[in-house]
Amino acid sequence: MFDESIVGHGEIRKRLLGRVNSDKLYGSLLFAGPDAIGKRRVALELAQRELCFKRTACGYCEGCKIFKTDPLPKEFPNMLRIAPEGKAGIIKVDAIRGDELVEGGVIMWAHQAAPPGCHRWIVIEDAHRLGKSSANMLLKTLEEPPPGTFFLLLTHRPESVLPTIRSRSERIAFGPLSATEIRKIAFARGWDESELDAWAAVSNGTLKYLEKEAFERACSQIDAWISMLEGVPFYSVSESLLPDKSSELAQSQQVTMALEHLLIALDERARIQSGLPGRLPQWSARLGALVNKQIDTQNGYKYTLEAMRALTRNVTPESLLRKISLALS
Ligand SMILES: [Zn+2]
Repeated sequence: MFDESIVGHGEIRKRLLGRVNSDKLYGSLLFAGPDAIGKRRVALELAQRELCFKRTACGYCEGCKIFKTDPLPKEFPNMLRIAPEGKAGIIKVDAIRGDELVEGGVIMWAHQAAPPGCHRWIVIEDAHRLGKSSANMLLKTLEEPPPGTFFLLLTHRPESVLPTIRSRSERIAFGPLSATEIRKIAFARGWDESELDAWAAVSNGTLKYLEKEAFERACSQIDAWISMLEGVPFYSVSESLLPDKSSELAQSQQVTMALEHLLIALDERARIQSGLPGRLPQWSARLGALVNKQIDTQNGYKYTLEAMRALTRNVTPESLLRKISLALS
């Protein structure tokens, strides 16, 4: 009953399937767990199973194949997928109220009859990006969805999901993927055995850097932060840290990533400092040399975490990153 090409989260998938089959699924579920670990895949599998010709999510039939295209379609007869849009990266009211994609919007879509033998799944990605007015519009449907309709809200920042939404949803807690699982996925995606250790250490149980380009950017950012810790001024390395205007990712997402890479560098330095073996061989020597340098890591961590929280509001990436670099120098 599972798509074998999907790796990880076995327990959760088994439990969800059991509850669908016994008609015991709550109308609104909040899939909460780290970013890029496959929460969306697990959500889609529920819909995939129902459109699979064998009803098993075999992974190979025409019914399954439509769930594996890139980019993934936004609407199937039994599934609607809503995600944040634009540079601001928010879920727009139009998506709920009705726009060119969904006539009548999510609410009307939710009330249409399900295809025979199917449920209707409404997947809301990055549910913490649901604005107040969009959320308010959704509340009633979310609280009592029509029979057979289910909301699957995905988030890696459950604490930022509006309380009104949170209180109406059952939380399903996801953990990071195991080292074996992420290696299996990376290997299937063409990563070479020799690169896997470095990749897995930076990826830390997630699939954020599955694309080589994303991994290279992560490495160049870790590199930039280490250079700053070594005393290089912000402006000489800022280019690799500031948001890339041509990227599809929202600005806030890009800045969050840059900050996460600072945390990776600081954590690695702390690990070496306390005598633990380093996990990032490519930077061990440089970070090892920094162990004895006076660095205000306490403020570094503090400002970084503060900045991550502030990113839900509009901020200027440059001044924010500069402030952190000053705290570290
Ligand atoms: Zn199939």
